[in-house]
Amino acid sequence: MSVPITADRENEVVQAAPTQLFIDGEWRDARRGRTLEVFDPSTGRVLTRAANASPEDGWDALKAAEAAQKGFERTPPRERAEMLMNAFRLMHERKDDLALLMTLEMGKPLAESYGEVNYAAEFFRHFAEEATRISGGYQTAPAGGSRFLIHKQAVGPSILITPWNFPLAMGTRKLGPAIAAGCTSVLKPAELTPLSMLALADILREAGVPAGVVNILVTSSAGEVIEPLIRSGIARKLSFTGSTPVGRRLLEQCSEKVLRTSMELGGNAAFVVFEDADLDKAVEGAVLAKMRNSGEACTAANRIFVHSQVMDEFSQKLAERLGRMKTGRGVDEETAVGPMVDARQRDKVAELVEDAVRSGAKVVLGGEPAAGEGYFYPPTVLTGVPEGARMWSEEIFGPVAPLTPFDDEKEVIDRVNDTEYGLVNYVFTESLNRALRVAEQVESGMVGINQGAVSNPAAPFGGIKESGLGREGGDTGIEEFLETKYIGIAM
Ligand code: NAP
Repeated sequence: MSVPITADRENEVVQAAPTQLFIDGEWRDARRGRTLEVFDPSTGRVLTRAANASPEDGWDALKAAEAAQKGFERTPPRERAEMLMNAFRLMHERKDDLALLMTLEMGKPLAESYGEVNYAAEFFRHFAEEATRISGGYQTAPAGGSRFLIHKQAVGPSILITPWNFPLAMGTRKLGPAIAAGCTSVLKPAELTPLSMLALADILREAGVPAGVVNILVTSSAGEVIEPLIRSGIARKLSFTGSTPVGRRLLEQCSEKVLRTSMELGGNAAFVVFEDADLDKAVEGAVLAKMRNSGEACTAANRIFVHSQVMDEFSQKLAERLGRMKTGRGVDEETAVGPMVDARQRDKVAELVEDAVRSGAKVVLGGEPAAGEGYFYPPTVLTGVPEGARMWSEEIFGPVAPLTPFDDEKEVIDRVNDTEYGLVNYVFTESLNRALRVAEQVESGMVGINQGAVSNPAAPFGGIKESGLGREGGDTGIEEFLETKYIGIAM
């Protein structure tokens, strides 16, 4: 980290990165020979080209997963655990290359990419431990006479789809439990950030994961390639992380063959600062909840409610803190805020800010996209954002903190819950009773109390309402890839 990253080092990592499709344990070009461009969002320039799958490649990948399924689900759990532990170790050995590759294709500051490599690897360690703890049961029927045997089995070939904002961790959060449970898979990373997942495929191969167990498909035609696989009847499960509109469409497709589904969808997190909060702690919490990944996170604080008694002090402290965060290329050591992932994302952030200002919000910091190359938007603080502003109901996905005052607990709970999303909310107060009272009443799958980050591989991550179905991580994550079989025994 302390050695500056040179252009030669950037080139070396990009040149060494795999760019082909990974199907049935082999690297190969797309059947129609198509490729797509991968960009560096901090310059807008092409980094490299990657193979671009068409529907025929999709079929090859799913057939490989189907062929490998029966053998893989019979491997001893300890062997699957060892594959995951090997992959965990290899990720740590290669963390410098993985982190740099991620920063180059996605833009996040290098320190955050190191954080993600570590977080992503932890899913492998966590699920290595879970693989050997898959349990069942044996019980007497209430009326006596017969016995119930409860057995857990792999769901079967799974389709895994991941977004661009956490290019490695969203994949390992699915692959870890799939491998632990004995499921084979076809994983489709986002077109914008395929290189991290392709680099991981190499690691999984070296870690001893057999051919066909994990197949990676990169494509610019997601719908055309994935829909026939979902409707095929071969895949038994879809695990998707991405936006709510795409998740909704995929759920419809899954209904045809009644696939098991796990859906990690969009968020609209509230961040609530009560009048008795430790304001310095709350500011640091807001920096984390808002600025992690430059605001491009489903868990990002999208609506910040501040008690009117402390609004002036909190907004000044937050603006002062965010004003010190330097925007720049993720490879530069001083950079705290990287570029938005592409021009579309940057323009959407700018549009939402313009809309809020037109509706009456006041700009305390930032407020204009940066000129020049790359897709930068600076840290921005807005006060008095009216609830009719679009950013109150749409994910901002950028480094913009919209603040609004509130006066009492019941009022703020109602306002927090006034959204179709329910992923996470954050509460800052020094009162334990109030913290728990509010945590129980807000409608979300997760709540952070006096902390601005909740993600942990050992905790159940997921949302309610239109933020999703199911949980990843924790001791429930592996259940998403297991079926429960009941065997009745007459005695
Ligand atoms: P997205 O547009 O929904 O895309 C997510 C993934 O779905 C990408 O791989 C995308 O492929 C693929 N996809 C798009 N259309 C598809 C289709 N018709 N069939 C099959 N696959 C399709 O979301 P995004 O913009 O990449 O990611 C941001 C969203 O993800 C935000 O809403 C964020 O909140 C959510 N997210 C949620 C969580 C969570 O755990 N709840 C975590 C991270 C992100 P291409 O990109 O190649 O088109």
